[in-house]
Amino acid sequence: MSHHRHHPYIACAVLSSLALVLAVGMISPSVAAAPPTVHAVADVSQEFTFYMDGRFYRQYLEGVGAGTQNWGTLSKLDLDNVNLVVLTDGNPRIPYSPASIAHVKQFVEAGGTVLLMGDGRDPMPPGQVLARELSGGFTTTQAKKPIAGVGELTGVDITFRGGNVLDVGALWTVLATDHDDRPVLAARSLGKGQVVLGSRGLFGQKPDASDPINADWVTPMLVSRAEAKQIDPSKRMRPTRAELKKEIGPLTLQFQEGTAPFADAVYEVYEEVRPHLVEITGVEPSPGMIKTMLILPTGGGGFSSGVLIAIGAWWGNYPEQRYPMVELIAHEAGHSWVLPHAEPLWNEPIATWLGIETGRRMGFKKADETIALQIAKAKRRDPDLTKMNPMAKDAHRDVIWGKSYFVFEELERMHGPGAMAKYFQTKRRVLSSDREGYSIDDAVAVWSIAVGENLFPWFQSLAFDVDPSKTDLVID
Ligand SMILES: [Zn+2]
Repeated sequence: MSHHRHHPYIACAVLSSLALVLAVGMISPSVAAAPPTVHAVADVSQEFTFYMDGRFYRQYLEGVGAGTQNWGTLSKLDLDNVNLVVLTDGNPRIPYSPASIAHVKQFVEAGGTVLLMGDGRDPMPPGQVLARELSGGFTTTQAKKPIAGVGELTGVDITFRGGNVLDVGALWTVLATDHDDRPVLAARSLGKGQVVLGSRGLFGQKPDASDPINADWVTPMLVSRAEAKQIDPSKRMRPTRAELKKEIGPLTLQFQEGTAPFADAVYEVYEEVRPHLVEITGVEPSPGMIKTMLILPTGGGGFSSGVLIAIGAWWGNYPEQRYPMVELIAHEAGHSWVLPHAEPLWNEPIATWLGIETGRRMGFKKADETIALQIAKAKRRDPDLTKMNPMAKDAHRDVIWGKSYFVFEELERMHGPGAMAKYFQTKRRVLSSDREGYSIDDAVAVWSIAVGENLFPWFQSLAFDVDPSKTDLVID
């Protein structure tokens, strides 16, 4: 079952070029060429960002250490063969649990090194509780450039993106200060290990890893500390997955303690959405299309690979706003109805249309607005939708999406109610499960069989380049 990675329309713009990297990154851990002396874990369980998913490693540790990510509950992370843990100040929706804080502290006391990057805000980020437990802290006082190195960092060039000064006492060694001699980077020993606390603006941020600022001193600063704890380089590092599971219909929900409350909420949405999908499509999800739905600690949308579907836990400001989450879950689940024969051209639009139609049935005004807006966008480029071929190589996405929605809406208007259900039922009936390929010509033939009318002329009138002689499916 080859299934393209896909995204809802909105998330697509943000995640499309990155999702594959994420999916691959989860499968293949990074391994340094020479036997590494550093085994680093970057945490993405408190807050998911593409940056922490491998980009920090590429900027500061590639070639000197091996690195991987933690997707699971931080307090349960196996740190035996790890000597560097990289943490951020986190997202306010997921506090650092007392068990996770104790686990991190024990790791340091036993010889490990922790880098905690962050800045104070009002209210303080979750990382503040962890910083306090290590007798440091963030503040909301803005640091003033320039930043100067102190002690081991005396004389180094320091790039600073901006951020706030730290609150560190006598236990800490200050490593960098702002214009007014206030600390922005500091380290302390604790037991046999070390903690480094730094303003986020001292480190890279870009999801494409193109901003490795301060690498000339960040790398040795971390490596020299981490090496104090010996690791066994022959044991490959592997990502730690979100360890909690729940079966929901055709999907396995995967999450960890921090995302558990959101998993329940996503589950509730799924339960609400599923019967609508069955009614809209007139069929159950395709057999064998069991998928994993990973709850990501982020508001940044979702993605899917052949292996799993990931959903941002507070996508669209859920649960304050419900519609975006309804549309997203119905979209992602909708792919389980479409497969094993992915739709041509409109594979993503049809999934989102299923999401929108579900939202419409649940009474969200936003659903009709979403459809109308997209069709209007297409009409800006092709006023009566009869000129531009949506299958052309250079077809604009507004044309592809808007025309797809228009087609589904019109088919429903002319051949409904339940035109989409007739289409899905017919598709299941006339395609063998081992069929190779499903073209736009095949799809128009299925639509035609479904509604009992040859629709090739109608699709052609909308500038679709379709041809009944290019499909083996017979319309009678
Ligand atoms: Zn999709």
